[in-house]
Amino acid sequence: MSHGHPGIDDRSLPPPRVEEVADRVFAYVQPDGTWWINNTGFVLGDEAVLSVDTCATERRTRAMLEAVAGASGGQAPTTVVNTHHHGDHTNGNALASSATVIGHRLCREEMTKMGLSRPDGLFEPVDWGDIALRPPSVTFERRLDVHVGDLLVELHHVGTAAHTTNDVVAWVPERRVLFTGDLLFNGGTPFVLMGSVAGSLVALDRLVEFDAEVVVPGHGPPGTPAIADVVGEYLRFVQDTAERAVAAGLSPLEAAQETDLGAFADLTDSERLVGNLHRAFAEHGGARPGDEIDLVAAFGDMVTFNGGRPLRCLA
Ligand SMILES: [Zn+2]
Repeated sequence: MSHGHPGIDDRSLPPPRVEEVADRVFAYVQPDGTWWINNTGFVLGDEAVLSVDTCATERRTRAMLEAVAGASGGQAPTTVVNTHHHGDHTNGNALASSATVIGHRLCREEMTKMGLSRPDGLFEPVDWGDIALRPPSVTFERRLDVHVGDLLVELHHVGTAAHTTNDVVAWVPERRVLFTGDLLFNGGTPFVLMGSVAGSLVALDRLVEFDAEVVVPGHGPPGTPAIADVVGEYLRFVQDTAERAVAAGLSPLEAAQETDLGAFADLTDSERLVGNLHRAFAEHGGARPGDEIDLVAAFGDMVTFNGGRPLRCLA
């Protein structure tokens, strides 16, 4: 047990890395992709830098901005696109002070309603640093085109609640690179408590339609669209588990405790099953994608599932 301030310097995680996944298109990959440790990305144009998301903490966001400067000859982001409202993707927005922040209309609404996202107690302690709420100032509903120098970046809402109500993908058609936000996790357990199981499956089909060569997920290493296959298999497993559990009269927590994850046991943050089942139960009972459900109860059950301990968090 360490008694120091947690942070990226005193953990055993490998350092974040920059991957140029196509000409002037970069993924910023933060191992190990577990709770609150997200990926960002950036696209370089002449005198313009578009960043896809920021990070959870001051320290992680400053390290990311240094990496952007290092790859761009000292530039700072001129645009930040938030893929959704979650704090691991938006808490650092204010630190990208020269950027215009763009997101879905509901991303701004959620951030404004929820305030800064730094939950205490649910997760192992995090050194958030100096972060401040900065919701998108430019919002859109379905699609927005951003020109980064001569490179087009298309922003698309996926058309349904999925990971959240406000998931946006960033598509660079001339490079065939797709930044998916948390519609995809690679190596981690998908998490749809705040969105929809059924909607996520629809969103996965839409992601595949882009016919990307490189996909940058919200967490975990970049790869090919095949990342979506595992996510889809997991989500159907959640739906099947919920259907059987409802028939057996079990609660989401009881169902999770009885479930053998099988091949999905290798995915990190497996306690997300409990939250996912809360959403799947609601949908089984007729809830529509993105309908409000009791998030406090769901997170409480996740902690119970975790032996009553705060959830592992290395952010
Ligand atoms: Zn998220």
